[in-house]
Amino acid sequence: MIRPSILDLKGVTKQFGGLTAVDHIDLQVREGEFFTIVGPSGSGKTTLLRMLAGMESPTGGDILLKGERINDVPANKRPTCMVFQSLALFPHRTVGENIEFPLKIRGQAPAARRERCLQLMRQLRLPENYYGKSVTKCSGGERQRVALARALAYDPQILFFDEPLSAIDYKLRKTLEKELKDIHRETGKTFIYITHSLEEAMVMSDRIGVMRAGKLVQVGTPNEIYTTPKDKFVSEFMGEVN
Ligand code: ADP
Repeated sequence: MIRPSILDLKGVTKQFGGLTAVDHIDLQVREGEFFTIVGPSGSGKTTLLRMLAGMESPTGGDILLKGERINDVPANKRPTCMVFQSLALFPHRTVGENIEFPLKIRGQAPAARRERCLQLMRQLRLPENYYGKSVTKCSGGERQRVALARALAYDPQILFFDEPLSAIDYKLRKTLEKELKDIHRETGKTFIYITHSLEEAMVMSDRIGVMRAGKLVQVGTPNEIYTTPKDKFVSEFMGEVN
């Protein structure tokens, strides 16, 4: 079954002065999909993600969310949430305080906040006694789950990930990739992920979009990209995985 599209990009472009960072991108992302944008440094991944998340406006083209044009809707008015590379947790606060933060700023009462927080902790397999634990005492994997629980507390339709695993050592990264994939399956949310690592993209994604110099050069499943790279650039980029 083909799922309906949640995000439609039509000729999305971003220019910074004379530089075209993102160049006429057409793309449909489907509901519940794990879609990864991959490409070398400077290819425009971050700029594209920032436009999808509402942190930048396109200078050309349209971004549609379930058919509604959202080009100039700011990040805090979109049903989406960004998980940053650093995870952006409040380091001196507890797990519970971090996860409840979005609920607190929405004015939810303490008892309801706590109940929702404990539900999210169960969903992400964080033990209940972590509620009062400082995040500085959590492992790398646990921190990732706290950051994801906090992002899910916003109840977003789409979660964006800005290279969340790039600063993490290989062994832990492999564990976190698997966890992220499991969490994606369990939540059924749309995940849009950027990375410069094709290897990471291959492991986790339903589909991958390969970027080069602001353009989306190929979109396909990991298997399609692996077996039928569209041009020399993609096959050379693939070569780095082997
Ligand atoms: P990637 O995430 O793939 O490394 P970026 O989206 O960060 O690529 O950058 C794409 C291009 O746009 C680069 O040439 C970068 O220097 C440029 N760029 C990104 N942000 C800005 C900005 N705010 N002002 C000017 N140029 C920018």
